[in-house]
Amino acid sequence: MQGLMQQSALTVDTILDHAKRWHADREVVTRSVEGPVVRTTYAQIHERAKRVSNALLGLGVRVGDRVATLAWNSGRHMEAWYGIMGIGAICHTLNPRLHPEQIAWIINHAEDRIIFVDLTFVPILEGILANCPSVEHVVILTDSTHMPHFQIRGVPGVKWQAAHTYETLVYGHSPDCAWGGFDENTACGLCYTSGTTGDPKGVLYSHRSNFLHTLLTMTGDCMGVTNSDVILPVVPMFHANAWGVAFSAPAVGAKLVMPGAKMDGVSIYELLETEGVTFSAAVPTVWQMLLQHVESNGLQFSTLKNVLIGGSAVPEAIVRGFDKLGVTVRQGWGMTETSPLGTVSTLTPELKGLSYDEQMVYRLKQGRPPLAVDLKLVNDAGERQPHDGEAVGRLMIKGPIVVREYFKGAGPVVDEEGFFDTGDVANIDAAGFMQITDRAKDVIKSGGEWISSIDIENIAVGHPKAALAAVIGVAHPKWDERPLLLVKLKEGESATKEEILRFLEGKIAKWWMPDDVAFVDDIPLGATGKIDKKLIRQRMADYALP
Ligand code: ADP
Repeated sequence: MQGLMQQSALTVDTILDHAKRWHADREVVTRSVEGPVVRTTYAQIHERAKRVSNALLGLGVRVGDRVATLAWNSGRHMEAWYGIMGIGAICHTLNPRLHPEQIAWIINHAEDRIIFVDLTFVPILEGILANCPSVEHVVILTDSTHMPHFQIRGVPGVKWQAAHTYETLVYGHSPDCAWGGFDENTACGLCYTSGTTGDPKGVLYSHRSNFLHTLLTMTGDCMGVTNSDVILPVVPMFHANAWGVAFSAPAVGAKLVMPGAKMDGVSIYELLETEGVTFSAAVPTVWQMLLQHVESNGLQFSTLKNVLIGGSAVPEAIVRGFDKLGVTVRQGWGMTETSPLGTVSTLTPELKGLSYDEQMVYRLKQGRPPLAVDLKLVNDAGERQPHDGEAVGRLMIKGPIVVREYFKGAGPVVDEEGFFDTGDVANIDAAGFMQITDRAKDVIKSGGEWISSIDIENIAVGHPKAALAAVIGVAHPKWDERPLLLVKLKEGESATKEEILRFLEGKIAKWWMPDDVAFVDDIPLGATGKIDKKLIRQRMADYALP
């Protein structure tokens, strides 16, 4: 027997419909690429997104077509998102930090027909579009005053037709447009992994998966955002959907503050203070810059209460730094393939009774899964490992927000129980807290045992003179591999190898102690703000341990 409740498709356009009806005047504030801070509301975003939909229909876009964005977090970017998704087209977020050739590869693989682009990234498109035959139109996210002359370098004669000015295009179309009307399993978003190993892979979200992800991110133990919050996503909409914030903020009707192109500590701090931000989300490197700015200028946060940090492991120094300033840190773990939120390090009631230092152990882990997410650990033979905080294994994840197969891929990427292999190596303790010890490809194998590069990095970066730290495995005749610690010192600091190693003593197992410390001017970060170990390994290819 079937239930007798209404069947309405869980499509993401209904999120903005809801915001328009019930939170119409709530503000969306953007530091625009052109410069000034622009204020709008959910009602206005909704109206303009509908105009975008009509413009796209006018350009011949149909259900299932890929429409890309190459843009910062902004109100206009959000309008483009909902305008695309509302008519069943697929919003493909391009990551501008990738190499232009890789961006072109991704555009071609996705067969994008239209690209919305911010002024900042126009030169990238001008350089590659001659090699992207599927692209017919480019829409520049600006007004006629700022519209640049757009010219494609390279061979003429491609299918590409015209560059449009966003504001002109939008206001040339009516705000009356029906959204939805398609199945909730219809694709609505496409995001490629950065391809640190092999070619990038496309993750194709459905309306249903994004809708469910929105519901679970809003829960108290996840992001816990409410109508009264003021939310600033520093994490870009092109990095795993800004972790869902462009959906969850309108879903709860929270004021949204979009940082545009300025992500430095000074600019972010200024927005946090002037707009009264209470909740923000970003990768650790962003918070490191912000904390350095706040601490070195003796500043305080007057409204900020909660930050979500993820994308790479959160160093203890960041958690303690925020604690001193009265801001609660939650660590999130996830990946493009998991929509992205897979776990959050919110303390359980049992752990809240522990001392501050005892709690820290759990807060530095990646956390527990929300409803609709299941985890397991397996060894190389595929056997489940116990959740005892000791056994490490490959982390596998399952649920309706997790990838089943890649876009144009070779078929399902899940095991017989439906779990997807994250490529991360982790343990899970008795309290259910998962802890990433490494990415499978970064693990250091020393004498048959695994050394966690992440653990050493997190402790090393807590040295008062260290700005960034990275650990890689280096070939060793007896032990196979041994850890090498690379340290980038803070401006004007100097340090010795012994000084750094002494700092690690007692904090890590003796046999984990790096065999050497290399002081470097630069620790390269990849396209999503994470330490680029592949590049470091290339740079250190000729390095021999002492
Ligand atoms: P990529 O950077 O490869 O494009 P993602 O941005 O999807 O892919 O990153 C996913 C990976 O980032 C995870 O598999 C994990 O290795 C790492 N990661 C994400 N959050 C955390 C965290 N809180 N702690 C440690 N690692 C993390």
